[in-house]
Amino acid sequence: MPEAPRHDGPGLYLHVPFCSAICPYCDFSVLTGGETAHRRFVDTLLAEAELWREDAHRLAPGRFDTLYLGGGTPSALAPAELARLLDGVAARLPLRSDVWIFLEANPEDVDRRSLDAWRDLGVRTLSLGVQSFDPASLAFLGRRHDPATARRSVGEALATGFHTVSVDLIFGLPRQGSASWGRDLDTLVELSPQHLSCYQLTIHEGTPFGFRARRGELAELAEDAQGELYAQAHEVLAAAGWSAYEVSSFARSPEHHSRHNRKYWRHVPYLGLGPSAHSFELGAPGRARRWWNERKLGAWTRRVEARDKPLAGEEGLAAEQLALEAVFLGLRTAAGLDLEAVRRRWGVDLAALNRERFAAWVEAGFVDRAGGVLRPTPRGLAVADGLAASVELGGSDVSR
Ligand code: SF4
Repeated sequence: MPEAPRHDGPGLYLHVPFCSAICPYCDFSVLTGGETAHRRFVDTLLAEAELWREDAHRLAPGRFDTLYLGGGTPSALAPAELARLLDGVAARLPLRSDVWIFLEANPEDVDRRSLDAWRDLGVRTLSLGVQSFDPASLAFLGRRHDPATARRSVGEALATGFHTVSVDLIFGLPRQGSASWGRDLDTLVELSPQHLSCYQLTIHEGTPFGFRARRGELAELAEDAQGELYAQAHEVLAAAGWSAYEVSSFARSPEHHSRHNRKYWRHVPYLGLGPSAHSFELGAPGRARRWWNERKLGAWTRRVEARDKPLAGEEGLAAEQLALEAVFLGLRTAAGLDLEAVRRRWGVDLAALNRERFAAWVEAGFVDRAGGVLRPTPRGLAVADGLAASVELGGSDVSR
């Protein structure tokens, strides 16, 4: 079997597709729904877990060590439904007794009772979809909370005693300048959660923002302006003692790095349940497989209720494709691209194929090289995908 990082067991992802309203930029598989829809969804997710009962032991011989509740907005489920979901999953799938539970929540769902309930359910990382502390930005993004609610949710979450409180922020809104982004960053530093996920606004086809863009009413911020806002985030956060450990992820210390997301970055197996969820498993040496579920709630529900695993597609991944992914993923993380690990795991000798290219990156200040590892600098992180796309893989015919 290919070697996986020893300290990471497989991860489990549960996709909860409900939101109280749909944001105009959202490209996820989401919908609104009341209590009855929530109850049926939990029943169906547990039925899907049952379909994986046997195979999960093959996927996770050492048991799942992270469980990520994402969406959508899992906090839209009442704590009693979340408890039923977690208990039911634990009864069907092999979870470690100290499984690390992540929960995504929106600020408007946060109050003392919900926070206490989530903590008592074993949630250790609470991720808050704040997006901005600025009233005009929140209104533009179609969010349901105001800045006061955003601040209060972070403060109360910190007081509840989760191991990690993470805040999501979005930058690069049309016409956003450094002053408004700077105020968001300053507020974050002042509130002092332990983790930040910071995303650039992308306008997707088929969303309300996508339609407005087609009509010429909206445009993404120019790339160089985006780059300046990204650099500003690094500067402000570094001055406050934070560091980026991935293109979009900052933390105040390594103990708050996401144990779940790093599985995606390191080709550690994971099982995803729920509509649109993706899964990954290692197979024969140099090969792996990825599959994904039906995206629509209705199709996913019908398949599961017919006792059919609700897969919508799958792909086998050969060594060259896995090496290419390792390049893209490695250059997006501060841990960097481990050339020797890629040679060992996927049989591609990147160092020999890219000797001059990598030396030029070091010279230009995009990466630091320590032994066989290329670690992107903040400058390199900003252009990580462009660097990765230029890497020579030895004539392999893989799609980029
Ligand atoms: S809250 Fe998040 S998942 Fe829900 S609609 Fe908005 S962006 Fe999409």
